[in-house]
Amino acid sequence: MDFLPVFLRVSGRHCLLVGGGQVALRKAGLLLRAGARLRVVAPELQPELRALLQDSEHEKHEVLERSYATVDLDDCVLVVAATDDLELNRRVHAEAQTRGLPVNVVDNPALCSFIFPSIVDRSPVVVAVSSGGRSPVLARLLRARLETFIPASYGRLAELLGRFRGLARDKVRPMARRLRFWEDVLNGPVAELALAGREEQAEGLLRELLEGQGEAPPLRGEVWLVGAGPGDPDLLTFRALRLMQQADVVLYDRLVAPEILNMLRQDAERIHVGKQRANHSVPQEEISRMLVRLAQEGKRVLRLKGGDPFIFGRGGEEIAELSAHGIPFQVVPGITAASGCAAYAGIPLTHRDYAQSVRFVTGHLKEGGAELDWRSLVQPHETVVFYMGLAGLPEICRQLIAHGRAAATPAALVQQGTTPQQRVLTGSLATLPGIVAANEVKAPTLLIVGEVVQLHATLAWKGEARA
Ligand code: SAH
Repeated sequence: MDFLPVFLRVSGRHCLLVGGGQVALRKAGLLLRAGARLRVVAPELQPELRALLQDSEHEKHEVLERSYATVDLDDCVLVVAATDDLELNRRVHAEAQTRGLPVNVVDNPALCSFIFPSIVDRSPVVVAVSSGGRSPVLARLLRARLETFIPASYGRLAELLGRFRGLARDKVRPMARRLRFWEDVLNGPVAELALAGREEQAEGLLRELLEGQGEAPPLRGEVWLVGAGPGDPDLLTFRALRLMQQADVVLYDRLVAPEILNMLRQDAERIHVGKQRANHSVPQEEISRMLVRLAQEGKRVLRLKGGDPFIFGRGGEEIAELSAHGIPFQVVPGITAASGCAAYAGIPLTHRDYAQSVRFVTGHLKEGGAELDWRSLVQPHETVVFYMGLAGLPEICRQLIAHGRAAATPAALVQQGTTPQQRVLTGSLATLPGIVAANEVKAPTLLIVGEVVQLHATLAWKGEARA
């Protein structure tokens, strides 16, 4: 983040606006909406700006028709320079900084200690969007999208809920229960009524709900086993995202990308339970026990896993434990690494001409490496995808050839599939181990073996490095 998003109270406080043109007019309008007392300094003022200041009844504004002087900063809490005189803008910036005042020089990010975001105003609800000064147009575009799906009546809804905050604090304890109460209110008939403009009814119903809170049963916890997909956050499902924004506590493993964790509810407790090949930071039994314990405490627990929870994710074991303890759960599928990597690498897993079936196999070879049924893995028209196959790659290729798959069979190693770091190394069963050894390869990686791999040469569309 380049800027810390905050909302500043300027109501009734002096704000200095240097400049009297069109740009100053826009900023003045915004500051006035937030209740600021404006001090406008400019040798000449646009008539509209003058009119605006005269029209606002509640505050006494100052208009100083002269050049800027340092004393203008006195008593101000915020400074905006909107002139086309670069020297003057610099001076205002420097002097404001010396006094520790937040300052914005319009259209000059380098001279801004704060910037004005694009806003969706449903006061008291306000949504602010910023591109960190990179592209105001992009921020405006996003804002326009938000405008279309935040109903105008959200402001009224927020006012209504605000009136009941005190009562809720008395009636609904402890805080965890109160949070859940408000979420249920927002997802239920009270919100529906308020948004439909039936405020009196909404208020009546909310009061009823609050009065009835004394006898409410204890919080019921549950567990959501959710697939987070292979890396690209855009590959999350809607349901995954919805649950991510409701969970009280999240247990996630190494495969879940930081960009995805950023989308979790801000105040959700996060527990990293690791999981690396041969280095399980938290043993599986311990994870299952934690899920049970947290749910028994009444929490909504999100178990977030890379890819799909039921494909080499040990999801089955975790929900068996939950089921044994009578804890409610749901499972949300995710895009598994094989689908994600194949799609983003331009390697169709099946194809009329090359492969009529596909198998997902674990390449995590036990000591000695003899536990896979190699004979079944060498069918000519089949694609075989190995998860966790990097360490065992030379052995896997050797065994496949030894059991009859042609040494020239195309094979690809997809590294960090679907992420901006995706990289695809291709070769054959005979050559791929050498190619991989010669490159610095970063986990996670997926091995795809079969004739379909040759299609990567023509169908790759992500523009990543090929070998
Ligand atoms: N449940 C997960 C798989 C977990 S096993 C799923 O459905 O995808 C972990 C293995 O998945 C890794 O060793 C690697 O082989 C594979 N994998 C997961 N994400 C990957 C990615 N973005 N790119 C390449 N391989 C990945």
